[in-house]
Amino acid sequence: MTEPTTKQCSICGETKSLDDFNRDAQKKDGRSSWCKPCTRDKEAAYKAAKAALAQSSAVAPETPTEAVLVPEKPKAKRTRKPRVRKTK
Ligand SMILES: [Zn+2]
Repeated sequence: MTEPTTKQCSICGETKSLDDFNRDAQKKDGRSSWCKPCTRDKEAAYKAAKAALAQSSAVAPETPTEAVLVPEKPKAKRTRKPRVRKTK
């Protein structure tokens, strides 16, 4: 019996050479079930998700928004109602 030299990736489903799979001592065949490109994609997606999560949690709810920081331009001058002073 000869050792298999190819393996099917569980992500993309492609059958590739064992060289395209990272070594994984925990797997019975000694190779990861994901091919190298898929592993890269997974790691990139994981890192991106983690970075996005860190960024969203870094924004404290108390942080003033831009709308608060930029004062609104005063609109047309309001004509103040003259105070009616009762002089008595
Ligand atoms: Zn793959």
